[in-house]
Amino acid sequence: MTKVNTARNTDTGALWSRTAGDAPVCSVLNQNIEADFVVVGGGLTGTRTALGLAESGAKVVLLEAKSIGWGASGRSGGQCNPIWRATPDDLAKRLGDTQAARLVETTLASADTLFADIEKYSIDCDGEQTGWVQAAHCGSAQTSLEQLAEAWNAAGANISVLDQTETRRATGSEEYDFALFHPRGGHVQPLSLTRGFAHTAIKFGATLFEDSPVQSVTRAGDKWIVKTPNGSVTAGQVILTTNAYSDNLWPKLRQTFLPMVSVALATAPLSDNLRKAILPNAVTISDTRRAIYFARYDRDRRLIFGCVGSTEDAAAFGGVNRLKRGMNKVFPQLGETEIEATWAGSIAVTPEMMPHLHEPEPGILAALGFSGRGIAMTSVMARTLVSKALGASNDSLAFPVTAIKSMPFHAITKAVLPLAAPAMTARDTLDTIFKRR
Ligand SMILES: Cc1cc2nc3c(=O)[nH]c(=O)nc-3n(C[C@H](O)[C@H](O)[C@H](O)COP(=O)(O)OP(=O)(O)OC[C@H]3O[C@@H](n4cnc5c(N)ncnc54)[C@H](O)[C@@H]3O)c2cc1C
Repeated sequence: MTKVNTARNTDTGALWSRTAGDAPVCSVLNQNIEADFVVVGGGLTGTRTALGLAESGAKVVLLEAKSIGWGASGRSGGQCNPIWRATPDDLAKRLGDTQAARLVETTLASADTLFADIEKYSIDCDGEQTGWVQAAHCGSAQTSLEQLAEAWNAAGANISVLDQTETRRATGSEEYDFALFHPRGGHVQPLSLTRGFAHTAIKFGATLFEDSPVQSVTRAGDKWIVKTPNGSVTAGQVILTTNAYSDNLWPKLRQTFLPMVSVALATAPLSDNLRKAILPNAVTISDTRRAIYFARYDRDRRLIFGCVGSTEDAAAFGGVNRLKRGMNKVFPQLGETEIEATWAGSIAVTPEMMPHLHEPEPGILAALGFSGRGIAMTSVMARTLVSKALGASNDSLAFPVTAIKSMPFHAITKAVLPLAAPAMTARDTLDTIFKRR
């Protein structure tokens, strides 16, 4: 008999669990079952992949160690940022012209495809496609943004360049003199979106289990056996979508990225006057700092503000204080506005700041490393995983299939990572002093 997960392992401190749509009702795996596909991880990547596979008629099981959306997906800033930090030319140099062209085409459509998914599956996730302002924190960052816009516009994007007056009008902040405006950008309630994908996957026949951490994946003939503490699933293919929360389940996977932390806070709902002054058109904003400042509204017009942090205890290494100082620097109008929640979560950052798709053995796929661009890009990757799992050839996929490669000096770099956020903030401050235009 299956046991419903009543002791839900959901508490991450993120504001989103207070305002999210209903969680799916999932059991704990306590039997031995069979499926066509097992998806490991119940974030945006896993739930959207399970949805796509189940929609195709396949028998799909998803196993989540905690609860659906417990990882980065339920803690995210929820900004849909539909381009990469690399230019199309950079991608062509790295991947070759043909692969880069496929990725660029998919990327340019990524935001519209996400919002179309939300509509198609009637997912109630407070989605708003009001645009994304990408602001320069110093003069050299302005030059890089100008080049980025030129390169992506040449490839078909529709990015506008905002001068000082337009930037300040769009953001309500005097911190910035220059920005790009990406009209396709937007924002979602990330936990509601993840739960929405999960509900839809269940509707299409997928079975989702929570509190069911996968402990081993072993081959059995032409199938794989995936074991949890109280059960197992035997399946033809296993898809690992554990991102920054990857453990030692698959050799070397967790050495392919650095688990950087992002911290965030939510203010109390802002007064009408503050709302008119700050992000007046409900755009999202993120800037070019190393410790990236980002902000957006939630549906009740709380301001969500975030930056790079140190550990999953948001206050550690001065994380919350840095966050508040950052928010007051960008939006001094907020004064002593009440803070309702602070939280932290881990993102998987790869050396080239792009996600990886691996096929280490026939029947095993792994996709991770969204490097802080997961809201639009997990869906792009999930669709790629679905195509690949259903038999598409590698030369038709948006992402290249690459070998698992450990980052050099991974253990040492990971050990000193908590110190990176204060160091990056110090460098950013120097930039704003010495590199103003
Ligand atoms: C504070 C914060 C702010 C962010 N802001 C933005 C933003 O504004 N815009 C943007 O684009 N991106 C943002 N991101 C990044 C984005 O949220 C992530 O890229 C995205 O959610 C990753 O989704 P995922 O499904 O790949 O991984 P996750 O959501 O992390 O899911 C992985 C899941 O795997 C599970 N798992 C791990 N090991 C096992 C196992 N052995 N067995 C079973 N399950 C397992 C975990 O419990 C977890 O639930 C932010 C991230 C954070 C933390």
